[in-house]
Amino acid sequence: MANSYLDMFSLEGKTALVTGANTGLGQGVCVAYAQAGANVIGVARRSCQETAEKIAAVSGRFEEIRADLSDFSVIPRIVTEANAAFGRVDILFNNAGIIKRCDAAEVTEEDWDAVITVNQKMVFFLSQAFAREWMQDQKGGKIINIASMLSFQGGIRVPSYAASKSAVVGITRALANEWSGHHINVNAIAPGYMATNNTANLRSDDQRSEEILSRIPAGRWGTPEDLMGAAIFLASEASSYVNGFTLAVDGGWLAR
Ligand code: NAP
Repeated sequence: MANSYLDMFSLEGKTALVTGANTGLGQGVCVAYAQAGANVIGVARRSCQETAEKIAAVSGRFEEIRADLSDFSVIPRIVTEANAAFGRVDILFNNAGIIKRCDAAEVTEEDWDAVITVNQKMVFFLSQAFAREWMQDQKGGKIINIASMLSFQGGIRVPSYAASKSAVVGITRALANEWSGHHINVNAIAPGYMATNNTANLRSDDQRSEEILSRIPAGRWGTPEDLMGAAIFLASEASSYVNGFTLAVDGGWLAR
């Protein structure tokens, strides 16, 4: 137990694995976790050099695992390399995700499967792989999944994404029901509309961009920094009795 309530937010001595660590929200979470004291492992299908440099700038510790998260055969290697990097993984942050914009009438099975594979199925099986380890050593762990506003709403021209992110909330609840008794906290964060690659097309569409901005009570797009308080909270001892919940960080979008 921490000495003061503020100490409960420290990640000192912990190791966090973040997927999609090379850019955007995942990169931000890597830096935030390093600042909070954690060893960080970034999983990405391309170089995490920029993330590594940002972490070095705050004197953090970082290792990279190169893996394509649309291929389930990478899971055992990720677990082995992650355990070899810093000993034990304590925090799994399932961030990697893709979006494909297309009229529902035109969606192909290939595109549907691509989105469901990374956003939904990989979240479950990577969580399963680490939870199996944690249930064996009985030391617990934290899983944080990235949901979306489209976990709660249907969205426009992104049906596979809405399906996958709605599933993330269901997976978060289902795993919490089974694993909370093993000291494994499973929660999710639902970011609102954040300025990253994920929303580049949306932001470059003047009409959609204006429609979205005018509906955000906070009056601005979110930034990766906006997510970090919630990311640290859900990875830390401060959230020990928070289970199966999806926390919106959305500038008030869902309140409207
Ligand atoms: P982003 O910049 O596009 O980041 C997505 C990350 O996922 C990238 O690192 C990407 O790698 C990685 N990724 C995708 N497919 C992968 C694969 N097969 N193997 C390994 N890595 C893969 O967008 P972001 O906004 O930071 O997105 C992060 C998460 O937040 C996603 O789950 C997204 O759906 C979610 N989200 C974003 C928003 C928003 O407004 N930005 C809102 C709600 C939820 P590459 O760079 O190699 O593609």
